[in-house]
Amino acid sequence: MKTTQAQADPVRPRAPAEPLRLDRLIRAGAIHSMTGEVYRCAGLHGEQIAAVSADPHGLDDLAGRSTVVVDARDLTLLPAFSDSHEHLMEASRNTLLVPVDQARSIAEFTALIGAAARDTAPGGWIVTSMGWHESNLAESRLPTGAELDAAAPGHPVFARRGGHLAIASSAALAAAGIGPGTPDPPGGTIGRLSDGRPNGVLEGGAVWQVSSHAPAPDRAQLAQALRRGSAAYAALGVGTIREAMINLEELLAYQDAAERGLLSVRVRPLIRVGNELTEQQATALIRGLGARSGFGDDWLRLWGLKFVMDGGVEGGALEQPYADDPRNSGHLNWDPAVLTRVCTEAVRRGWRIGTHAAGDRAVRTVLDVYEAVAAEAGDLPPWTLVIEHALLSDAAQRARVVRGGFGVTVQHALLWNMGSEMLTTWGPDRTRQVNPLNEWLAAGASLAAGTDIARPFNPMTSVWGMVTRGTKTAGVQGPEHAISVAAALELYTMGSARLNHEDHRLGSITVGKLADLVGYPADPLTAEPDDLAGLTPAFTIVGGRPVYDPHDMLGPASQESSARC
Ligand SMILES: [Zn+2]
Repeated sequence: MKTTQAQADPVRPRAPAEPLRLDRLIRAGAIHSMTGEVYRCAGLHGEQIAAVSADPHGLDDLAGRSTVVVDARDLTLLPAFSDSHEHLMEASRNTLLVPVDQARSIAEFTALIGAAARDTAPGGWIVTSMGWHESNLAESRLPTGAELDAAAPGHPVFARRGGHLAIASSAALAAAGIGPGTPDPPGGTIGRLSDGRPNGVLEGGAVWQVSSHAPAPDRAQLAQALRRGSAAYAALGVGTIREAMINLEELLAYQDAAERGLLSVRVRPLIRVGNELTEQQATALIRGLGARSGFGDDWLRLWGLKFVMDGGVEGGALEQPYADDPRNSGHLNWDPAVLTRVCTEAVRRGWRIGTHAAGDRAVRTVLDVYEAVAAEAGDLPPWTLVIEHALLSDAAQRARVVRGGFGVTVQHALLWNMGSEMLTTWGPDRTRQVNPLNEWLAAGASLAAGTDIARPFNPMTSVWGMVTRGTKTAGVQGPEHAISVAAALELYTMGSARLNHEDHRLGSITVGKLADLVGYPADPLTAEPDDLAGLTPAFTIVGGRPVYDPHDMLGPASQESSARC
């Protein structure tokens, strides 16, 4: 993105039917449009950006008595962030569950479970937040199933960690019918002690085997949790989240939340088509949906379907064996021929597809599938077939992605969060090659940036990571793959808007687009990169409505922009 001083002439509608009166007029030190211009003031009307000007007073004649004038010349405005792959539902549900993400040691972790057990009827389930990670524990290891047993004797305890791993107590394993003789499920592993008994560690498909037995919050609870969860993201400057995996019950909770005006961010969900389904079941699920990608409104619009080809850092399908286990090279969850037929049916019915592929063998396999789908289904619009993550890839795979016109969502936050784990399991060479954004961009790939961390995460920390390749505990990994701040911001705004097929509505500060804006007390394009990691917004506006305004800078929400249903 080049940033040039915009023309002094204000950009505004040519011949408004009636004189335009702005709801809100914001003057700022700089307003980066993300399409190359820098403005000094922006006028909002209803849900939209109505006018912009490079002159701080260029829109004064559009202000009336009811216009709220915001003088924020010490702030820099950007389009609100659009997270192209995050789990808002999981992050929101976490707020209803045992908050083990707060633990900093195994003792604190099990103490939280013990406290929950005292509040739970004998034999009742105890389910934890999935937002924890062992790298935040002093011991830097997973708790064991035996430790969960000791913390909550007789209770089924289920501690999911992210999307691909969980620890279950003996009672939870028993409730799911998992014992010494249970074989590993498709696309998953049941961790075992030396005598063959399950040790409580579940990976991939084995996580779903137990989670389907654990009680889930009801729709009303989820809708309220989404209110809190989405507000936490809005407070970090996020305006849109592509919700990377939900089921149909969760979609209902989203609809409830959207109808009641509880969402502070726009949501673009992907519906999970699980690999535990047979081909016939998967096809029947898709045929039964009765809608297609794009259904919804500006607040809640279906993005598409979600498939998961391999595991995460533990189960990702690699071309070469794991660094810490030469017999293991991860697992593929789908037979490529089956997935090709299911995806072909889906795109013919108007669905976009996002497929999780972490390891390079999974990326290669998904490319085989996508190329076959494209050959079967004919011309597909850009961003119909998307690879989620592509943590490991080689130049030949990147060239195939570009040739095929496929999209890729990238999340530096995964390297940031799990870099230490990658160093152990994948080794240093592969770790420094994770998400080489500069090589992807040089190859001409269509990328969109996000986080995938299932808890409110500052997008500016992601930007810092994309620019420095810095991580939480694994130092700087592959600094040669860094990109510029402007490029990182572009992938996080316009890139995601293109992914969502909404670049005509969102992604930049442009007259006629929806007014999703975030104000920062420093200009990210001129700040020192290391100052970005902790940079947080002064306010966030979504659809003209202040969704985060802790210092009351923005005045009241206008009638028009606050009413929606
Ligand atoms: Zn994800």
